[in-house]
Amino acid sequence: MSGKLLVIGFGPGSVDHMTKRAREAIEESDIVIGYKTYVELVSDLIGDKPIISTGMTEEVSRAQEAVKWAERGKKVAVISSGDAGLYGMAGLIYEVLIEKGWTKESGIEVEVIPGISAIHSCAALLGAPIMHDACTISLSDHLTPWALIEKRIEAAAAADFVIALYNPKSGRRTRQIVEAQRILLRYRSPKTPVGLVKSAYRERQQIVLTDLEHMLEHDIGMLTTVIIGNSSTFVHDGLMITPRGYQRKYTLNALEQPLKPHERLRKEAEPWALDQVKANVRDTAEEALQKVAIQQRKQLTMAPAILEIAVSSGIANKTFTPKQMMVLAEIVGEQGTMMYTPDHYLKLAIPTSDPDRIIARLKEADLMIAPIGDVLTVKACDFCDGEKKDSIPYAEQLHEQLSGLALPKELKLGFNGCGMACYGAVREDIGIVYRKGAFDLFLGGKTVGRNAHPGQLVAEGIPPHEIVPVVTRIIQEYKEHGHPNERFHKFFQRKKQVGGFVYQEEHSTAKIEVPACGE
Ligand code: SAH
Repeated sequence: MSGKLLVIGFGPGSVDHMTKRAREAIEESDIVIGYKTYVELVSDLIGDKPIISTGMTEEVSRAQEAVKWAERGKKVAVISSGDAGLYGMAGLIYEVLIEKGWTKESGIEVEVIPGISAIHSCAALLGAPIMHDACTISLSDHLTPWALIEKRIEAAAAADFVIALYNPKSGRRTRQIVEAQRILLRYRSPKTPVGLVKSAYRERQQIVLTDLEHMLEHDIGMLTTVIIGNSSTFVHDGLMITPRGYQRKYTLNALEQPLKPHERLRKEAEPWALDQVKANVRDTAEEALQKVAIQQRKQLTMAPAILEIAVSSGIANKTFTPKQMMVLAEIVGEQGTMMYTPDHYLKLAIPTSDPDRIIARLKEADLMIAPIGDVLTVKACDFCDGEKKDSIPYAEQLHEQLSGLALPKELKLGFNGCGMACYGAVREDIGIVYRKGAFDLFLGGKTVGRNAHPGQLVAEGIPPHEIVPVVTRIIQEYKEHGHPNERFHKFFQRKKQVGGFVYQEEHSTAKIEVPACGE
C-alpha cells in the first residue's frame, strides 16, 4: 500500500465554494490533518476519519506528522483554508519532504488541490475590486522580517497595485496595520476605497466598505482580508470596483462604439502601448506618477511614527514614585497609550516625531527602558529581604548584558532571589533561583497556553561566578540556532541539548484526538 499526500485548499469556508476535487480528496483520504478551526469548518465531510488537529504555530509538526503517516502508507489530507499554495501548507509539505531526500520519482505521491483564496472570495463580496494588476501581502512578521514587508508595501503602493493584505492584525500584532496604512498614505489618496471582509462565506461574515483614511476605525482581525483599491478604484452603490481600462477605447453607455472591431487593435487606437510610447504619452504616465508624489509629500508630514517601548522602575526595584508616574502621564499624553503587562513593565505606545527626546526624559526620571518584541526580558523578583540581596548584582549583570537582545522569539529570563521563587522564575523560558549561596537553573518552561508547564530543573548549586557565563552561552546558542519564531522550549526540545544541559522527554506536541487507524 502506498501513501499519498493530498494538500487541499478548501476555499473561504463554505462547502459551496469548495472545488469538487477538494471534496473528493477529503473523502478519499484515510486521515485528515489541519489547524483546529479548519478541521471544524469541514467536519461534515470528514465524518469519522481520524483527525490530527494542532494549534496555530504548529505548522511544522503538522507537516512532519502528515509526511510520517503518508510514509506509513496512509492517504493523508492536509487541509488549508483558501488556497493551500498561498500562506498555506503546500510549500512547507514540499520543504519537509525535500529535507528527507524526496524526489518526484522515488518519493511518495503529492497532489496539491487548488482552492479559492481570500483575495478572490473577499473581492467577490465587495464587487470587483481586483480586476487589474493586484498583489497579496501578508502583514505577519512572525516568519518574515518587517523591513522586507515594509519594502513590499511601499513598492506595491508606488506601482499602483490593488493590494490584498492578509494576516492584517492579531491580538498581539496590532501595529503592523497602522504602519501599513501610514506607508500607503504616502502614495495614495486618503479617499482610496478600502474593503474589509471578515470571515468571507462563513457564519460571522462581515463586509465593510471604507477608505484609506478611515480604515482603522473599523474592526480588523485575524480573519479579515483588507483590499486596498488602486488610484482608479471607485465605489458605486456599496460596491468597490476597479476599472479594467475599457473606457479608454469604448463608450460603455452606447451600443454604437466609436471604434469598429477591426480598428480596435490598431496602433493609433492604443497610444499608450509599449511600441507607441512617444514623449507625449510618456508625459501622461509621468503626470500620474507626479500626482502620487504630490500626495506622498502631503502625507509625509501627516502621520507621525509610533514609539513603542517597555518601561519599568528597575530590575529589583518594583516601586514607582509619584514623580515618575507624573512624568509618564505627561509623556504619554492624550494621544499615546500605557499598558500594564504581565511581564513586569508598562508598555508605552506614543505617536512622536522625536523618539530620542522621549527616551531622554524617561531616563532622566530614572526609569528603566527596554525594547519590545522578540527580545530577551529579565523578570526579577523584588528581593524582599536583606540576605537575598546578595544575588541582585548577578540579575543586574544579566540584564545589562542580555536585556533587549534580539532573539528568534521573545524570551523571558526569570530571576528569583530565594527558594520560595514567589515571582515564578521556574515558569519562565529560563528560570534562575538563588538558594544557599548558589543558583538553580530551570530551562524550557512553556509560559503560555493551556498546556503551560514549568521549566526542567537542569542544574542545582551553580556557583555565583559561573551563572552569567552559563546563561549567556545558552542564550547565544538559541540566538544562533533557533528557527525564526521558535520559542525557547521548542528549541530545547528539538536540539535535545542546550549549553550542555540535556532535555528530558516529557511532553509531546501534536495531540492526536482520535487514535489513527487502530494505533
Ligand atoms: N491560504 C489562505 C490564506 C491563509 S493566511 C488563502 O489562500 O486564503 C490567513 C489569512 O487569510 C487571514 O488572516 C485572512 O487575511 C485571510 N483569510 C482566510 N480566509 C478568509 C476568509 N474566509 N475571509 C476573510 N479573510 C480570510
